[in-house]
Amino acid sequence: MKPSFFDLTYDELKALLTEKGFSPFGATQIFDWVYKKYVYDPKEWSNVSNKAKDFFAENYDFSLLKVVWHGLSKDGTRKFLVKMTDGQTVETVAIPARDRLTLCVSSQVGCAVGCTFCHTATQGLKRHLKASEVVLQYITIQNWLIQNVSQEEKLTNIVYMGQGEPLHNFENMKKATLIFMSEKGMGLGQRRITLSTSGLVPAIEKMALDFPPVNIALSLHSARNNVRTELMPINKVYDLERLFKAIKMIPLKAHRRITYEYLLIDGMNDGSEDVEALANLLNSKESKINLIPFNEFPGSKYKRPSEQKIMWFLDQMIKRGFTCTIRTTKGSDILAACGQLKSEFDKLNLWNKDSEPKVIPSIASSVLQNQVRP
Ligand code: SAH
Ligand code: SF4
Repeated sequence: MKPSFFDLTYDELKALLTEKGFSPFGATQIFDWVYKKYVYDPKEWSNVSNKAKDFFAENYDFSLLKVVWHGLSKDGTRKFLVKMTDGQTVETVAIPARDRLTLCVSSQVGCAVGCTFCHTATQGLKRHLKASEVVLQYITIQNWLIQNVSQEEKLTNIVYMGQGEPLHNFENMKKATLIFMSEKGMGLGQRRITLSTSGLVPAIEKMALDFPPVNIALSLHSARNNVRTELMPINKVYDLERLFKAIKMIPLKAHRRITYEYLLIDGMNDGSEDVEALANLLNSKESKINLIPFNEFPGSKYKRPSEQKIMWFLDQMIKRGFTCTIRTTKGSDILAACGQLKSEFDKLNLWNKDSEPKVIPSIASSVLQNQVRP
């Protein structure tokens, strides 16, 4: 099997061209064709030498991922299930908001972290995604949007908040980030990319020294060690003290700001003790808090707090001087919780046999009916 072209960073492409006896300057043209003009057939790269075109056509794979299911929510969120060459699938979600269209990409098939509120955790870790599989979520969905919605439907931002723990897949996510940010290609600025992590301390320490400067979101979910450990077993190994020591190493100027994600779960982390602990742990000037009302899924053991309780929590944080927002649940009518869509489809075992998503609409609607909240 040929290696994917989308695993090459710009510098690697330049080195490859030199190694094969081509001019390294060709890298600029090639990145331009692939990432700016959406041309994936080397034969069509008109300003590239014939030998280089043949070399890439023969030795590299340019195929995109296969969209095996797509759902459009009433709020405009589009959820996709994409299939990779080994038949594994992951979710990727396009979320519109005012002047931006953000793609939420997955970093792994499943996840090893095992948070007790997370649907992806129930799948365990199947494998890491390759850098190309992360980059290709973006490329595949961008092409899909152009073909199926309009030429103007352009993705503008990326969040690493789909399935998986991105820092557990450090090297591949770093490489994908370099490809996203390359000015010769997609040229996404550092403010347009946000990495969300559950708090893998050694990787955060490494990130502080050796990762492109993207925004960081930390999944905090509780400022009390015993509660956090119950929600996120990773806290047993890397507790709040160790976690915050590592976070302080991140050069804030480069990373601009850290957003703390705080899942609100009824009776678990939404009381006055939790408010106090959170206000004591974080510095109101440097932190932004994003409250995420728990998204229930079939079989989940937790409940979402009442709207009143959610607003109370928000109000308490604002009173204490924090910048605090509520993340509205996007696409709740299209299987919103992380990892849910993939599981439903695995159960139905739709795609192993075939290539085209022929049966999807009817099956999808039955899955949707089961998932829509009353
Ligand atoms: N592994 C990384 C990124 C993927 S999870 C992390 O944990 O940060 C992305 C976000 O979805 C996290 O903040 C996670 O806590 C949240 N999430 C997971 N399950 C959820 C659920 N059932 N309802 C609401 N948010 C959930
Ligand atoms: Fe993994 Fe994030 Fe889900 Fe925790 S919340 S299990 S880290 S994907």
